Amino acid sequence: MHKITIAGAGLVGSLLAMYLAKKGFDVHVYERRPDMRKHVIDGGRSINLALSDRGWKALEEVGVANHIRQIAIPMYGRMVHNTDGSLSFQPYGKEGQCIYSVSRAELNKTLMNCADDFDNVHFYFNQRCTKIDLNAATLYLQDQSTGAGSTAQADVVFGADGAFSAVRGSMQFTDRFDYAQDYIDHGYKELAIPPGPNGSWLMEKNALHIWPRKSFMLIALPNTDGSFTCTLFLEFEGNPSFEMLKTEAGVHAFFDRYFPDAKALMPTLMEDFFHNPTSSLVLIRCNPWVYNHKIALIGDAAHAIVPFYGQGMNCGFEDCSVLNDILNEHTQPDGTVHWQRALQQYQQSRIPDANAIAELALRNFVEMRDLVADPDFILRKEIERRLNLQFENQYIPLYSMVTFSPNLRYSEALRIGKLQDQLFAKIMDIPNVEEKWDKGQLTQILDQYMDDYLKQV
Ligand SMILES: Cc1cc2nc3c(=O)[nH]c(=O)nc-3n(C[C@H](O)[C@H](O)[C@H](O)COP(=O)(O)OP(=O)(O)OC[C@H]3O[C@@H](n4cnc5c(N)ncnc54)[C@H](O)[C@@H]3O)c2cc1C
Repeated sequence: MHKITIAGAGLVGSLLAMYLAKKGFDVHVYERRPDMRKHVIDGGRSINLALSDRGWKALEEVGVANHIRQIAIPMYGRMVHNTDGSLSFQPYGKEGQCIYSVSRAELNKTLMNCADDFDNVHFYFNQRCTKIDLNAATLYLQDQSTGAGSTAQADVVFGADGAFSAVRGSMQFTDRFDYAQDYIDHGYKELAIPPGPNGSWLMEKNALHIWPRKSFMLIALPNTDGSFTCTLFLEFEGNPSFEMLKTEAGVHAFFDRYFPDAKALMPTLMEDFFHNPTSSLVLIRCNPWVYNHKIALIGDAAHAIVPFYGQGMNCGFEDCSVLNDILNEHTQPDGTVHWQRALQQYQQSRIPDANAIAELALRNFVEMRDLVADPDFILRKEIERRLNLQFENQYIPLYSMVTFSPNLRYSEALRIGKLQDQLFAKIMDIPNVEEKWDKGQLTQILDQYMDDYLKQV
C-alpha cells in the first residue's frame, strides 16, 4: 500500500485525505495548528465561505455532501444595499439555483470527522512542516508545543498547506520554478451582525448582502445561528482607507455615511473594528505544481486567488476531483499507479484553469463593489437572463458558467465570457438600448447578434 503524506489539514487537505483513503492508500496528514475540533482557533471568529456546485460535486464524490448540507444556508442572489437605502435583489441564476453560506470552521471540522472515519487516515496536529526533502519525499516537522523536530517519509507528498505553503517553499529552490505573489491594494476586516430574538436573522437570510460603494464594499453572509459575518473590503491607503479609520469617531462617521443600515445592526462595531485584524489579500501563481513523481501542490498552496468569485475553496475541491479522475486513469488493474504520468497530467490540466479563475476573481471585484449598482450592468443582467431562457445551454451567463456548471472548465468559462463581453459591447452600443428593451424592440437585432456569437462559441 502506498504511503501518502499531506501537509495541511485545512479544507483541501482534509477532503483530499478522503479521496486518497477511498483508493486504499495509507494517508498521513500533518497540521500546524492544534486540532480545531478540540481547541478554539482564531479566537473563535466565525468566518464563512460561499460553497457552490464545483465544491458540492467533490463533496458528493467522497460521500460527505449530506453532512455539509446540514450546516449550509442557501443564498439565491445578491441583496444590494444601495446608497439611498433601497434594497434590490439580483438572482444568481435560474429559479432555484443558489450558492451556500458555510462556516469555515464547521466545514473543516466536519471534513476532518468524516476523514477520521477511515481507518487508513491518520491526523497529526501541532506539526508544522518546516521544509521538505523533495527527492526523498520527506517532510521535516516541528512540534508546535514542544519544539521537537521529526521527519515523515512517504511515497508521495501533497502540499495542501495553504497560500504560504512550506512545501512550495522548498520547491521554489528548484531550477526553473516560476513564482509570482501579488498583494492587491485592498485589505479586509471581519465584522458581525448578531442574531435577532430567538436566533432569527435581522436581514434576509437567503441572500448574500452587498453594499457596493465603488472603490470599496461591505458584504454579509448568513450563519446558522441567526448572525451574519460581514466583511469590509477597503484599500489600505488613500481616501477612504483603513489607514484613515484610526479613531472611533472616524469609524462612526464612515459607517454613518456609507453603511447606516448595517451599522444599526452592529452593536459591537467598535470592538470588532479595533479588535479584529486588517488582513491582506494575496494572489499566488506558480509553475510547476509537481516535482517528479513524488510531490504535488494542491489548493491554495498551488493557486491562492482573491475571494471575489467565492471560488478559492471550490477550485481547491475541484483540484481533488480532477486529480481523482486522473489517478483512476493511471491506475493499473493490479492497483499500481503511474504517479509520474498522473501528476504531470494533473498539473497540465489544472494550471490553465487556476489561472483562469484567478483572472475572473480579480474582474469580479469590480463587478461586486461597483457594477452591481450600475443601471447598464442591471440591464445587461436582464438581457442575459432572457438570452439564457431563449437559448438555454447555448447562452449561459458567465457567473452561471463559473458557479453552476461544474463540468465546464474555468478556462472555457473565461474564453466564452470574453465572447459574451464582445456581444454585450455591441448590444449596449445600440442607441437608446434601454428604451428599446423596455418596449420589446430588440428581438430582431438580438437574434442577429446571437447568430454571430454562436458561430464563435
Ligand atoms: C476573506 C476570504 C474569503 C473567502 N471566501 C471564499 C468563498 O466564499 N468561497 C470559496 O470557495 N473560497 C473562499 N476563500 C478562499 C478559501 O478560503 C481558500 O481557497 C481555501 O481556504 C483553501 O483551502 P486550503 O486547504 O488549500 O488552504 P487553507 O484553508 O489555508 O488550509 C491550509 C492548512 O494548512 C495548514 N498549514 C499551513 N502551513 C503549514 C505547515 N507549514 N505545516 C503544516 N500545516 C500547515 C494550515 O494551518 C491550514 O490548516 C476566501 C478567502 C478569503 C481570504
